[in-house]
Amino acid sequence: MSEAKSRQNRKRYDRRRRQFVRVCEAQNWRCCYCGTETELGIDGPTCATREEVKARSAGGSRELTNTVMACARCNSTRMAGDAFAFYRGVRVGMSVGGAR
Ligand SMILES: [Zn+2]
Repeated sequence: MSEAKSRQNRKRYDRRRRQFVRVCEAQNWRCCYCGTETELGIDGPTCATREEVKARSAGGSRELTNTVMACARCNSTRMAGDAFAFYRGVRVGMSVGGAR
């Protein structure tokens, strides 16, 4: 890859990252599904991850309007399932299993 091209990719990456940080801040750094506190750039289930409300495999876009932040655990559990069904599942599981 040429020097100029990798610089451009880097810029695009930074812009997407800044957008994502705004999403995290808007959610007060809490997972949109389970409400757990998250952090960016850590290794573990509470890592903040970018989540498409409508999975891209189902035609969802990468735009901010289709982006929420979920913890790594919810993100990997949900896979490409329906976001709202998953949300209900997490909430119901919480009320059945008690406080986590
Ligand atoms: Zn979560």
